[in-house]
Amino acid sequence: MNKNYIYFDNSATTKIDQRVIDVMIPHIKTLYGNPSSLHMEGQKARRVIDTSREIIASYIGSDIQEIIFTSGGTESNNTVINGVAHALNKKGKHIITTSIEHDSILQPLENLKGFDITYLKPSKTGHIDLDDLKSKIRDDTILISIAYANSEIGSIQNIPKIAEIAHEKGVLVHTDAMQAAKYRDINIQNIGVDLMTFGAHKINGPKGIGALFIKRGTMIKPLIYGGSQEYRFRGGTENTPLIAGFAKAVELLQNEKMVRAKYVESLRDMFESGLQNYLKDIKINGGGERLESISNIYFRNISTETMIINLDMKGVAASAGSACSSLSLEPSHVLTSIGLSKDEAKHSVRFSFGHENTKFEIEKCIKIIRKIYGNQL
Ligand SMILES: *Cc1c(COP(=O)(O)O)cnc(C)c1O
Repeated sequence: MNKNYIYFDNSATTKIDQRVIDVMIPHIKTLYGNPSSLHMEGQKARRVIDTSREIIASYIGSDIQEIIFTSGGTESNNTVINGVAHALNKKGKHIITTSIEHDSILQPLENLKGFDITYLKPSKTGHIDLDDLKSKIRDDTILISIAYANSEIGSIQNIPKIAEIAHEKGVLVHTDAMQAAKYRDINIQNIGVDLMTFGAHKINGPKGIGALFIKRGTMIKPLIYGGSQEYRFRGGTENTPLIAGFAKAVELLQNEKMVRAKYVESLRDMFESGLQNYLKDIKINGGGERLESISNIYFRNISTETMIINLDMKGVAASAGSACSSLSLEPSHVLTSIGLSKDEAKHSVRFSFGHENTKFEIEKCIKIIRKIYGNQL
């Protein structure tokens, strides 16, 4: 990416940290043994995976056997939906989720045969009502899956409380923590979930690697059958370079998370108050308890596409919301779920910040937006 390009799309993916790259390179170039091989080169690779798993398990407060490496958030989410449905369909065929989940939860749910799915509707700020959740649990409910932080508006759900409610009724609870992992506590001793999705490329690690936390004893079947890798739960030769990079990204996050969160929040606040000072007919979508890094803005006089294209021409990367659905003409399901009209949703843009961004970039972006907006009036 060009040095002067302003990257405000950190919820789609983040810049890989140089220290992560440095850790990965030897595993690509020289340490290429298969971790399942008995010879010395295989065993070297095996040790890298063991050490990485220890770092990650320690970060989330789990046992090492409770961490399964996957190809990322999408695979972890697909594994949860299909794996729990497959393991527990004799107990019941009802699953509770929300209408603002990532497509990697919504799509596998839509493709389950014979299941009844309840989609909780969030408030205007994107939060789930706990009494509503409680009232929707039935005798045949087998799983509650709710994202910790939403990727488009950043709303944070009260996962510890949701886990408590689920467990009172003997229901498994999963959270997609792909976004929340960046700035929030994802220690499973504190949040109490049975299953948790998280991954590397949203925390300055490499793409194509993630993990699924599975609490010991949880009823779930594999998605990918094969060899004996990953405790026989996920077959396929382990991707040693990516696993080592993932662990390094987690290690760096552990040390720097609080500082990053505070800094990114200050950028976000500066951005929003700056825009509000100059442009009177904009609105911040969502609100309340939300992730520090996301600002989703409704611009009355300019469409999402026009704004993104104009920003891009002036050297700013922003987004329509979910990267996976940005090419579709449909308005964001998250924005319409929190009460925006289709038209409002098609006039909204997500800016997502990272700790590499600067106050100078925020100021510059505000100026660019004022100029784009001025030209439209
Ligand atoms: C990015 C993201 C995913 C998908 O993760 P991939 O690793 O890109 O497959 C799932 N859920 C949320 C909330 C995300 O932000």
